Amino acid sequence: MTNRIRVTVWNENKHERTNPVVQAVYPQGIHGAIAGFLSKCPDLAVRTATQDQPSHGLSDEVLQQTDVLTWWGHLLHEAVEDAVVDKVHRRVLMGMGLIVLHSGHYSKIFRRLMGTGCTLKWREAGEREVLWVTSPGHPIVQGLGECLVLEHTEMYGEYFDVPAPEDVVFISNFAGGEAFRSGLTYRRGAGKVFYFRPGHETFPIYHDPGVQKVIANAVRWAAPTGTMKLEMPCKEMGWFEQAPPTSR
Ligand code: ZN
Repeated sequence: MTNRIRVTVWNENKHERTNPVVQAVYPQGIHGAIAGFLSKCPDLAVRTATQDQPSHGLSDEVLQQTDVLTWWGHLLHEAVEDAVVDKVHRRVLMGMGLIVLHSGHYSKIFRRLMGTGCTLKWREAGEREVLWVTSPGHPIVQGLGECLVLEHTEMYGEYFDVPAPEDVVFISNFAGGEAFRSGLTYRRGAGKVFYFRPGHETFPIYHDPGVQKVIANAVRWAAPTGTMKLEMPCKEMGWFEQAPPTSR
């Protein structure tokens, strides 16, 4: 299939190398699990990148060839090089899609794109979560029913300190009583950004067919359309030296 959407699945890749519980859930790493189900979609061309690689696996060449980047991080947010964050940021502004997963809410790139603290409540109790669809007809919920149910999850609770989103695609409620806006869409420059909450490393969240459907849908939604090229407002700063990701 030609004109496939080029996806780079990025992972911190720390828990999987240090925690046997996580290794048992994700023997190929969280990035391996996500890349595994996305690779089954004939319209997607998938690669992985991890934080322990040179330039965190996100060289200029890789970013140039990425239409949509997915981001999972937790323990090592502060160790992500600012120069890489700068590059990802400008690629988003120029049209690259970004899917921020679970504890990626506190990553440098998400906080920069949001401009707020991105803090939230949390509790790791393996409790039941129901993600209610609050934007029926949105491309990200295509093929879903009225909700997704995850029997064992980490709780995230409001207040989630993010700007008002373009769409709230899911609102979760948890067995403990809290609620959370679990699927949020934004536009930053020419780029589309989706935050999707589930994904704690000790639970098999990314093996869930509903979660997999949401992430695949989100990749397609976030892919650049190639219909628009932004001006290059910071050329004097060395920004935007690369063409926007519209060549596919
Ligand atoms: Zn977590």
